[in-house]
Amino acid sequence: MIPAESVLILRFSAVGDVVLTSPAIDALRRAWPKARIVYAVKARLAHLVRANPNIDQVLTLDPGEGPFAFARKLRAAGCETVLDLHNKIRSKILRALLPRRRTVVWHKRDFKDTLPVKLALKPYHSSMLFSDRYHAAVEELVGSRLPRGELRYFLGPDDLANADAALLAAGVSPSAAPILGMSPGANWQTKRWPVERFAALAARALKAGMQVVVQGSHDEAELGRFVAAHAPGAVNLTGKLDLPTLGGFIARCSAFVANDSGPMHIARGLGVPTLALFGSTDPGMFEFTGHRALFAGVECSPCSFFGRSRCPRGHFRCMLDLDEERAWRELVPLLTGGRRAPLSA
Ligand code: SF4
Repeated sequence: MIPAESVLILRFSAVGDVVLTSPAIDALRRAWPKARIVYAVKARLAHLVRANPNIDQVLTLDPGEGPFAFARKLRAAGCETVLDLHNKIRSKILRALLPRRRTVVWHKRDFKDTLPVKLALKPYHSSMLFSDRYHAAVEELVGSRLPRGELRYFLGPDDLANADAALLAAGVSPSAAPILGMSPGANWQTKRWPVERFAALAARALKAGMQVVVQGSHDEAELGRFVAAHAPGAVNLTGKLDLPTLGGFIARCSAFVANDSGPMHIARGLGVPTLALFGSTDPGMFEFTGHRALFAGVECSPCSFFGRSRCPRGHFRCMLDLDEERAWRELVPLLTGGRRAPLSA
């Protein structure tokens, strides 16, 4: 295939999904070093890709901006090929509004994987890493097999300084002692390891001489307050870090503990040793070399693609079977290992 002069990538959300496109873009850049790569994303998530050196231009979808107005922006970018890594209603409409051009569309899951889960016939186990699916779309675009790219999160120029300022204002000095970062939230209830266990893990890390800082959105402030109240010395920064500063903060951590969530992907992209806790979703969707994924493997799990608002069986054993003793054993080797190499995905 003759290299395209320009490629428009569509991926509008969410945090983790946008971060997970980085290996595919890396592979595309290596295959077509001279191509102009344009990335279309929601404005509030643009920071996730703005510092990526493989991306030449970021087009932002502003709040309330309709498809016709945004399609005009896309047309003005003048790309000759489209790589749709979103493949939902929004990107399908936008593709229909663009002049005819070569288009490759990514598919998140195989129908054969999803149908039995939707019919509640069996738990969900992804047959491929998500990053491999993005990679396969790039290979289809380029027309040949390609080496895997690397999962990388690229900080903006001020992210570390802003994170340091937020930490110092909260009484945390990155140079005083190693920082264990925690992210006890997640969009769905069944993706959340019980906050009492995060607090117990925080107490152990504090006792071991670490600083502990809890991160989360405004909506997750109660989780941060709980950990700080039950692990005296833990610092609660929930609701206080915007997206750019979140990356800077995670980069300052010696290790990070999170549920299946956007911050977990940012941490892996930064090479920060990460302990990820999985309940109703499948850790097999992601690469954890150099990190740890804790999964109880109860017979009903994973029961969903994204998570649920409550356990349909009522016992929630997928998370309750993961106690803090086991989590601590998994975490200890990560506390002293230093940064991880980028994941080839
Ligand atoms: S314990 Fe409940 S939420 Fe967890 S996997 Fe089983 S059914 Fe789903």
